[in-house]
Amino acid sequence: MAPKTWTKETFTLNTGAKIPAIGLGTWQSKPNEVREAVKAALQAGYRHIDTALAYGNEHEVGQGIKDSGVPREEIWVTTKLDNPWHKRVEEGIESSLKSLGLDYVDLYLMHWPSSSDPADLKKHYPDWDFRDTWREMQKLPESGRVKNIGVSNFAIKNLEKLFASPDFKITPAVNQVELHPNNPSPKLLDYLKEKGIHATAYSCLGSTDSPLYKNDELKKIAEKKGKTVQQVLLLWGLQRGTSVIPKSVTASRIQANFELDGWELDEEEQKTISSLPERFKVCGDAWLPVKVFFGDDE
Ligand code: NDP
Repeated sequence: MAPKTWTKETFTLNTGAKIPAIGLGTWQSKPNEVREAVKAALQAGYRHIDTALAYGNEHEVGQGIKDSGVPREEIWVTTKLDNPWHKRVEEGIESSLKSLGLDYVDLYLMHWPSSSDPADLKKHYPDWDFRDTWREMQKLPESGRVKNIGVSNFAIKNLEKLFASPDFKITPAVNQVELHPNNPSPKLLDYLKEKGIHATAYSCLGSTDSPLYKNDELKKIAEKKGKTVQQVLLLWGLQRGTSVIPKSVTASRIQANFELDGWELDEEEQKTISSLPERFKVCGDAWLPVKVFFGDDE
């Protein structure tokens, strides 16, 4: 089989919608950087942008989308409901749409399974949790302002809890989770596949100051392929069936991260990367009032 044209590839969600395989991440993009980054990405051919209310950059992301000149209907936009907004789902989506300057988003995710009290972020509501939030989120697609709904940072344990909720009706279309070779989560991926939930890989390069860039095995494979370590990491994620959302505010990197067509990692290379022994996680749960990771994804 010929290698895939990943830049044009999509993954079909359980709603029938097609999410572009490669997107631009925007977490930690500084003010005045992200507008240019979004514009550069869309002009380079990206058709998927990942943002969140919590990133405080939805306004700039929206400006970048407009600057690009790419028609709205060609772009997949994901944003996320912030933890202190769980009791205010309506307000949350309205705030995001207003900041983005858009009529709808393609995917709306519950950012974390933590209904944090806005008056004290170290506290969790005693009378509300992510099952209540999902009950409210399930109402959104009817209005057309949200095409698909999903979750993020959901471990198997919390997904099981969600499915067992009496109000549960709609299976999340996506679970956006941390996935890279030092946090490969094969058990979680198998579980999501079985449930028909697409996985999007965040921190797919290992995030800021990624230790993966210095990994000898990865460097060896990259050299053999005539590619960069970053390109190898992205292809590894795509070949596992996950969409990838590398973040960069550097035009040359935005371009290079999109050069993924016409080559592939063979089974051996894919396996080598999947078997790297080191473990690290970019996003933990110590900052949240509740535990959300249970080590059940190995
Ligand atoms: P990534 O794994 O995408 O890594 C981003 C870092 O890698 C930046 O420092 C960037 O630098 C650098 N980089 C990017 N491309 C290259 C390259 N080709 N060569 C060298 N360095 C490069 O990290 P993120 O943690 O940002 O994850 C990606 C996205 O996932 C986020 O931006 C966000 O949209 C989403 N996310 C979602 C979370 C959730 O809870 N749902 C949590 C974390 C992330 P520079 O920008 O300076 O070029």
